Amino acid sequence: GKTALRFGTAALSYGELDQAADRVAHRLIEAGVRPGDMVGLWLTRGIELLVLQLGIAKTGAAWLPFDAEVPVERIAVCLDDAAARVLLVDAETGAALAEPPPGTRVIDAAQLMAPLPAGTVPRRREGALPSHTAYVIYTSGSTGKPKGIAITQGSICHFLRSENARLGVDENDRVYQGFSAAFDMSFEEIWISYLVGASLWIAPRLLAGDPEALPRALIEQDISVLHAVPTLLALFAQDVPNLRIINLGGEMCPQALVDKWAAPTRRIFNTYGPTEATVSASLAELHAGEPVTIGEALPNYGLLVIEVIEPEAIVDGRLPPLKLLPLGETGELCITGPGVAAGYLGRPELTAEKFVANPWARNEREARLYRTGDLARVEVRADGTPQMQCLGRADDQVKVRGFRVELGEIEAVLAQQPGVGTTVVVLRPEGGIDQLIAFYVPAGEPPAAPALRTALSGRLPPYMVPARFESLDAMPRLPSGKIDRKVLRALPLAAAAQAEGGDVPETPAEELLFAALERLFPGQPIRRAQDFFADLGGHSLL
Ligand code: AMP
Repeated sequence: GKTALRFGTAALSYGELDQAADRVAHRLIEAGVRPGDMVGLWLTRGIELLVLQLGIAKTGAAWLPFDAEVPVERIAVCLDDAAARVLLVDAETGAALAEPPPGTRVIDAAQLMAPLPAGTVPRRREGALPSHTAYVIYTSGSTGKPKGIAITQGSICHFLRSENARLGVDENDRVYQGFSAAFDMSFEEIWISYLVGASLWIAPRLLAGDPEALPRALIEQDISVLHAVPTLLALFAQDVPNLRIINLGGEMCPQALVDKWAAPTRRIFNTYGPTEATVSASLAELHAGEPVTIGEALPNYGLLVIEVIEPEAIVDGRLPPLKLLPLGETGELCITGPGVAAGYLGRPELTAEKFVANPWARNEREARLYRTGDLARVEVRADGTPQMQCLGRADDQVKVRGFRVELGEIEAVLAQQPGVGTTVVVLRPEGGIDQLIAFYVPAGEPPAAPALRTALSGRLPPYMVPARFESLDAMPRLPSGKIDRKVLRALPLAAAAQAEGGDVPETPAEELLFAALERLFPGQPIRRAQDFFADLGGHSLL
């Protein structure tokens, strides 16, 4: 049969994938997994991960995916919050787990994948409904705890068809699978491929973030469809002529990137949407020399722009009446349609603030709307077509290399560290790439930056750990008393003190290497035994 998945030298046909997932589903059903249950999924990239994801789907239960790099403590918090009682692991992640999170049964992938005894008829799910949860994604929460978003089978099945009606991925495509399964952009890659019978090529972790090796590999593998965040595409060291569809999304897309990648044989799309509205809600086809917009709502989705509601106007989760804005005026972008989630797991107040009754609903599908927190405006083109423009955030949420981050969550964890008083984290360009910089006023004995880095790494995913920790005598403030973030985004960083305790370079090559690392990690002692990622806090784009 047709190849469904390829990873390294391994490949699975659609038939093999189907049978492998049936075995997984059988064993999970035997273990008591039912529609409506949540199953943690924590595996390193590869075929096993996707077989298990499909296996969970076949039981009718929901998968709750974790990135391989996420700290165990955060996994435990999310499993508990979602009341997931099963966690699937592989040899590598299983080894990182000292003991099972409380109340959780840990099942090893190899055990689920093993052949069934001869003559076993795989058990099938019973009673699965479109209203059952298909997956739960945790995203950064401004109060210091991640928040869970549950998306139903109905919403995701609808989304795949809706978006692909515009993208046009087909059975002849070879689709790159690069996103972590913990982010819903991976479902555009994986499940749209399954929908049309295309072939997926899964990149190993180190390749997925390597801007030199990745484009070369995409050429060698003859990949025709790439879904990516603009930050990654912008770093590609060369063109990939075989790409016929480039779908950008997850963060603002610079126009220069479109000018560079546009080609007559290729279509470039910009898809926009928050996890809360099921992956994407709108799409624009982009052309060289034309301003970037987020275009129009995907089929059955709806977009509205309302007057921004000040946080002070919300009392006990109750909002003032919503006001629809005329075309051309800037306000908060809201989304309606079958993709809008029920709300945040176990957070009725936050849910009431963000998911609200739609006073302009024309049918049941539009009954609720999600307030995105994004600022937007409808621009009417010369040919009369309305195009939505996304203009940034109305709050402190930022995107770090495509990852959604609430600065408040980092600040909350930082403020719990001994010796840290008032703290503010900002995102600002350093050395040509956006980096998180933490500023704090010491309370008592000022903590050492490595200690802060270690403490935060134990609680937060790697992309949320600040690159620098800067101590200040006092926070800059506006006349109102509020902290002036604008000043912090421009404040020169303290010249990093000569780091103590580093190794001494001994050869000309080491001298070059140490000098390069000191530029990337100012103030940090550089030692040969250190890991670039785990110890120094580097990431693949550095
Ligand atoms: P996530 O839930 O991780 O998909 O993040 C959703 C947020 O990312 C949105 O609310 C926007 O702030 C931002 N975002 C996603 N796609 C785009 C895009 N195409 N253009 C601009 N911002 C985007």
